[in-house]
Amino acid sequence: MTAYVIPAHDIVGLPVAGTSDLFPVRRVYCVGRNYAGHAREMGSDPTREPPFFFSKPGDAQAVVPAAPNRVLELPYPPLTNNLHYECELVVALGKGGANISVEDAASHIFGYAVGFDMTRRDLQFKMRDVGRPWEIGKAFDYSAPIGLITRAEDAGDINHAAIQLDVDGVTKQSSHISELIWSISETIANLSTYFTLAPGDLIFSGTPEGVGAVVRGNVLEGKVAGLSPITVKLV
Ligand code: MN
Repeated sequence: MTAYVIPAHDIVGLPVAGTSDLFPVRRVYCVGRNYAGHAREMGSDPTREPPFFFSKPGDAQAVVPAAPNRVLELPYPPLTNNLHYECELVVALGKGGANISVEDAASHIFGYAVGFDMTRRDLQFKMRDVGRPWEIGKAFDYSAPIGLITRAEDAGDINHAAIQLDVDGVTKQSSHISELIWSISETIANLSTYFTLAPGDLIFSGTPEGVGAVVRGNVLEGKVAGLSPITVKLV
């Protein structure tokens, strides 16, 4: 029998609401600047230029399941003095494909979750300003806490849902999914022209305005109406 020469790594499984089943994570794609207010606060024009994408690792070193009604303790990452939260609607694909049409995109969605695109903003800007990849600012250890996945049919009218993030009980981000520059279906369609998508892929759909720095001890609560909220404490 053929064996792996080192132990094979595990797939991250995100719990699915209302079941004891897990959603197996494959890739983690993220959309940059997909709310006008956030594009402005990042110093760019919120024009409807095509969406752009970056990735985070899909392994357990980056993706951390956040159980409901529990505080997930997340280590403050090294080499930053400016760690930012970005609360986002995460789309979980149940079906893959390339060149998916906008009209057909919704049928590829398994469900949705709340996630934080944690960002070492100082490193991201340092790389951005010299035209280098964002990896060290975006794709670090524990950079993608994600809550329970709610099946699409149980998530209500997600395209108009409220999205909110509080830090220590003070609301910092508050918007609606309807404010997305590129809708969920448009995002899936566009992303699938660059990459063949597959079941298990996650898409962080972008963050509203109001991002900011957090420090050890801060408690971050993220909510999207209709989905299970997540609570993260930086330690
Ligand atoms: Mn983001």
